[in-house]
Amino acid sequence: MSTFTVIGGGIAGASIAYHLAKTGNTVTVFDRSDNGQATSASAGIICPWVSQRRNKKWYRLVQEGARYYPDFIQELEETTKQSTGYIRSGAICLFKDDRIQQLAYERISAKQEASPEMGEVRKLTKAEVKEMHPHLTTAYPAVFVEGGGQISGDSLLSALKEGIRLHGGKWIQQDVKPEDGEGTVIYTAGAWASECYQLPLVRHQRAELLHLKLENEYHKNETPVVMGLGPMYIVGTDTKQFAIGTTHEDTTDFTVAPSEENQQYLHNEATRYFPETNIQDQFMAVGLRPFTRDSLPYIGWTKDHVFAVNGLGSSGLTAAPVIGREVAAYLTDKETVLNLDDYAYF
Ligand SMILES: Cc1cc2nc3c(=O)[nH]c(=O)nc-3n(C[C@H](O)[C@H](O)[C@H](O)COP(=O)(O)OP(=O)(O)OC[C@H]3O[C@@H](n4cnc5c(N)ncnc54)[C@H](O)[C@@H]3O)c2cc1C
Repeated sequence: MSTFTVIGGGIAGASIAYHLAKTGNTVTVFDRSDNGQATSASAGIICPWVSQRRNKKWYRLVQEGARYYPDFIQELEETTKQSTGYIRSGAICLFKDDRIQQLAYERISAKQEASPEMGEVRKLTKAEVKEMHPHLTTAYPAVFVEGGGQISGDSLLSALKEGIRLHGGKWIQQDVKPEDGEGTVIYTAGAWASECYQLPLVRHQRAELLHLKLENEYHKNETPVVMGLGPMYIVGTDTKQFAIGTTHEDTTDFTVAPSEENQQYLHNEATRYFPETNIQDQFMAVGLRPFTRDSLPYIGWTKDHVFAVNGLGSSGLTAAPVIGREVAAYLTDKETVLNLDDYAYF
């Protein structure tokens, strides 16, 4: 068995550490819980099949990620006796008009055979939309994807932390540099990786979500997530309310104060999706989302023999558990399901 130091305890580091500890390795995670940690701010949608991205390596990763989720969550929750907030209540995908709805329906359905875990795919009538999500607008044609789901970033992290502890690993709240780690060092520092390395293609974005309250309506666990027009989506939250997002702002700084302008923009978007309901803004969640060209994460060695995992982008919560499984297998000389060389492209 080997010794590993994981630097960065967001979803990337925590998933890798959990899978390494589970197989008997000596693992220590160092995390400093920076304000703006992407995992904590995340919306947590797990529904990769509806994306229009054409990058096949990215799709293989998120498809395998979504396939792995139910078993991974079941095992983690049984081990730790903690809830991760994982629900599979489906996804309502909205489209501008009937023609685009039809094209999307065909495009998404075509993925079903290779991904049976996505469940049923069907067009929804207005009455069905109303029944599933009573205050949601019926102005847009909709497609329902049964296997869509959602996870709470904070609850998942907390369960992983407990899982690491139960498997003999340590989690230490401390700022650590890669050169100070013992054994094999895994660097999963998210947006803050540039403090130590110029991972050339990893940048970060400020992403904001508006948490809101709808009059007379609470998020029930069976309420599906909504994939709106463009990059907009609506999810239920831990407090049984809703959140709408997200903004994408390329930046090089690390400030996480919410912007009034973005709040107004998201509030206006919310009124478009809930036109007949009184919407009360609750607060803005701001995360620094690490991303790369083509949205393809980097998973591989740096020139200093540190193993880096970064740039998980807007599908990081979807991909991280399977990245954890695969990286743990790769670093302990076991067979992997994915070809990790696909992601070691620097
Ligand atoms: C608003 C928003 C919405 C999102 N929605 C979704 C979604 O719906 N579905 C989905 O799949 N993904 C979503 N994502 C993407 C996902 O959240 C990210 O890809 C993922 O959380 C990135 O995880 P990470 O571990 O790489 O980084 P982070 O979660 O940012 O973690 C990095 C950690 O490293 C720590 N750290 C850095 N340097 C050091 C050091 N020197 N020593 C110790 N610790 C250090 C930091 O403090 C931090 O805790 C969303 C992201 C955002 C911001």
